[in-house]
Amino acid sequence: STTTTPPDAGTPLEVLRTVFGYDSFRGQQAEVVDTVVGGGDALVLMPTGAGKSLCYQVPALVRPGTGVVISPLIALMQDQVDALAALGVRAAFLNSSQRLDERRDVEAAYLAGELDLLYLAPERLNVPDTVRLLERGRIALFAIDEAHCVSAWGHDFRPDYLTLAMLGHRWPDVPRIALTATATEATAAEIVTRLELQDATQFVASFDRPNIEYRIVGKDSPRQQLLTLLRTEHAGDAGIVYCLSRKSVDETAVFLNREGITALPYHAGLDGAVRARNQARFLREPGLVMVATIAFGMGIDKPDVRFVAHLDLPKSVEGYYQETGRAGRDGQPATAWLAYGLADVVSQRKMIDSSDGDAAHRRRLAAHLDAMLALCETVECRRVQLLAYFGQQAEPCGNCDTCTSPPQTWDGTVPAQKLLSAVWRLADRRQRYGAGHVVDILLGNTTPRVTQLGHTDLTVFGIGTELDANEWRGVVRQLLAQQLLSVADGYGTLTLTEASGAVLRGERTVALRREAPKAAGTRTRKK
Ligand code: ADP
Ligand code: ZN
Repeated sequence: STTTTPPDAGTPLEVLRTVFGYDSFRGQQAEVVDTVVGGGDALVLMPTGAGKSLCYQVPALVRPGTGVVISPLIALMQDQVDALAALGVRAAFLNSSQRLDERRDVEAAYLAGELDLLYLAPERLNVPDTVRLLERGRIALFAIDEAHCVSAWGHDFRPDYLTLAMLGHRWPDVPRIALTATATEATAAEIVTRLELQDATQFVASFDRPNIEYRIVGKDSPRQQLLTLLRTEHAGDAGIVYCLSRKSVDETAVFLNREGITALPYHAGLDGAVRARNQARFLREPGLVMVATIAFGMGIDKPDVRFVAHLDLPKSVEGYYQETGRAGRDGQPATAWLAYGLADVVSQRKMIDSSDGDAAHRRRLAAHLDAMLALCETVECRRVQLLAYFGQQAEPCGNCDTCTSPPQTWDGTVPAQKLLSAVWRLADRRQRYGAGHVVDILLGNTTPRVTQLGHTDLTVFGIGTELDANEWRGVVRQLLAQQLLSVADGYGTLTLTEASGAVLRGERTVALRREAPKAAGTRTRKK
């Protein structure tokens, strides 16, 4: 809307107070704002909920001209613009969802100098008309939101982001501020290179989210485990349940509704209107559960999400951090709960093997998966491990499952040796044997397949009766996480790694975490 009066540009603090109604800047906001107001470039790495938006909104109001915000979140632009309009900020957007006359109005307002903020989808900048339009007006700054989308290796890659380096070429005097909640040093370095932000001042906040309780449990009967969690700890709470496949999203939503929990599905296979409706309901109605693929969530500002549950293993620690980060933005206690099992590892390995891209790309994906597995199987504080992944240090938090009920470890060297020798014995036969078959052999199970293949004759047949099948699967998972074992292909074939030899030769011991009793989806809270 262009009817509201423009706020008087004042100092950043005056703008913060009069326009946004906040008393003071938080964390590094003031320094970021000063940098950009002074015409410098900035790279801002702050977790979700830290308050990144004000880092460019305040300078856009303080500096003359329009702040141009590049954002991939077309679906949220209307909401963002409405929220700003409610504060008296003159904001508008240009994207492909608009009618021609709407676009004309926005363009006219921009040229007349009547816009404080203009949101653009990145693909707009590949349209010469848009660039010409921008050149005819006055630009206060460029804000590149969700800057990690420039990373070709990341899970949110948007090819259009690669062209954004041109902003610095065409408008060398306009400050640029890139923002993201993805924090690895590799991603930051890639943003700097691809957006040519070598001269930008970097602002890196702590990525700790102390109010989120991290919990990772063995997957057994996932939907039932989820139901227990929701009923015992999150009755009536809003939350997000992430599933890997669209089918699983649909089925889980149906399941929850049948159990009396109002759940909405969200994935890219649903009609756009249905998606938009479900998202709007989730944002506005209290206590709804969104069951979604990772297509859902980026940029969603719902402060009171009380839990984020993963029914499948995320592909990377970055993804896990981003998705769980949508819980508890209001600072109140929230739960990040993940159920994972061996089948997750096998299916992810299959996806990696069949993914596009060269060997280096697949190796990177595999490294992401390994880091995620290590987080799942750690006996240390989850938060320490998570922050260490982002290059940040922390003390054991007292608010994650490994802190509140420390897993017992045991000397698993002998079982590890038995398992690795079974894998080794099976390796030279031209067949594919997954964990299930290997465990059958160790347990001495005379399944039809074991008998038919003559595996009852193997020296390792029946040597592992000290553990049950579930415990053996746990050993397999943990050896995978410790990279003492790997999954060779999409069939789940187990193979030895370079490090396996030392275990087989008795040169190193293997510490394993004791498996929680079956179906322990939730822990009992200490009173
Ligand atoms: P991010 O983009 O980093 O995820 P947002 O910009 O959406 O975070 O801000 C998260 C919430 O914190 C918003 O509700 C915002 O209004 C609030 N917020 C940001 N900065 C401040 C501040 N200085 N004082 C009070 N609230 C703030
Ligand atoms: Zn902890």
